[in-house]
Amino acid sequence: GPAVPAVPAVAGATLRVPLVTGGDIGYANLDHAASAPCLDAVRSAVDEFLPWYASVHRGAGFASQVSTRLYERTRDVLRRFVDARNGDSVIFTRNTTDAFNLLAKALPRKTSVVVFDSEHHAALLPWRGPNVRRVQLPRTRLAAVSVVDEALAECPQGPRLVVVAGASNVTGELLPVAEIAAVARKHGARVALDAAQLAPHRRISLRELDVDYVALSGHKLYAPFGAGALIGRSDWLRAAEPYLAGGGATKLVTEEAVVWNSGEERHEAGSPNTVGVYALGVACEQLAAHWNAVGSHEAALLERLRKGLASLPGCAELRFFDAPVDRVGTVSFVVDGFEPGWLAAVLSAEYGIGVRDGAFCAHVAARRLIREAGSEGQQAVRVSLGLGSTEEHVDRLLLALRQIVARGARWEYTKADGRWAP
Ligand code: PMP
Repeated sequence: GPAVPAVPAVAGATLRVPLVTGGDIGYANLDHAASAPCLDAVRSAVDEFLPWYASVHRGAGFASQVSTRLYERTRDVLRRFVDARNGDSVIFTRNTTDAFNLLAKALPRKTSVVVFDSEHHAALLPWRGPNVRRVQLPRTRLAAVSVVDEALAECPQGPRLVVVAGASNVTGELLPVAEIAAVARKHGARVALDAAQLAPHRRISLRELDVDYVALSGHKLYAPFGAGALIGRSDWLRAAEPYLAGGGATKLVTEEAVVWNSGEERHEAGSPNTVGVYALGVACEQLAAHWNAVGSHEAALLERLRKGLASLPGCAELRFFDAPVDRVGTVSFVVDGFEPGWLAAVLSAEYGIGVRDGAFCAHVAARRLIREAGSEGQQAVRVSLGLGSTEEHVDRLLLALRQIVARGARWEYTKADGRWAP
């Protein structure tokens, strides 16, 4: 057949995990949507950098200069990664949650916010008060755009912001971001894109989408924890109170007054996560160089997974939209008669497969979809594919589920503190 392009390798591809039934097995990481394994290239870049790291913007020492150069260069890497406009700010944060809390604090007074109830809590909760309109995500993409249109039409005069995820962390479905942005423009509203689940899988262009802000997390982008970014229009960010008060955010402090920085540093008080930021940049560069391979790798695995789940007795997949839409490799499902937490425990203990169970920090929407899938419970199982996933992992999962549905688990499981364990 045709040559399959190689995807960047992940560290941990050879990890083995113990089985309760005896022995050990290669770990099948089907939980990329929670956190993705570190890329090999990221690991070696970090390894090289570790002896050199120092605080940034803090003097003429050689190590501090190296750190400062890499840190500032990574702003350009991120700017390119999301195809930002000239003049857009790139503020380093801890993660997506931190990025949206920063943006929420930087909004002009009385900004009206429109947000779907399907959003992850990180995108749903930072906006509070009477100016926030939470709207239910309808069952077609077209209706989703109309709902935003109607909600914006009802907003009072003044600044407006629409918050929308690029891809759902529950169903993997892509939302009609460009269409929503076009409608937002009509109402003079800005758009903030939650790219936590989209950025690891698809090229993003702020210019093409005509989106104003984007938030993302390094740990979902094949870099370690602790670094993320908010990228977008500078005016509100420059005018806002600093997100954190402290060193690095100031130009000048006297007995009487503080002059804050006006650039990105304004919101980055405290010694930054130099290593994490560097790792995030390397991961973005790697992904940007391999989008075609990433896309075909994940599409093939997703098709295999969904076909298998569709033929599993009693299995119902969660979906927001009636019609099939473009999606990333994240699939949540319930299996009639089996508790999701128990299934996840058996998959882990007897098959060495890591999946997620629960309501995925998107309680409102997850519960609705779980009900619609015919389940009495409030939870589902989520399988999420990425660069650490292989055909063998998917096949092992499908075989495991078929065996469990047909004849139960091989081991006894008990529930303590809400969690099943062998
Ligand atoms: N948005 C979405 C869609 C997510 O899936 C997540 C993480 N599960 C977040 C935001 C929050 O990311 P973080 O925990 O890295 O802040």
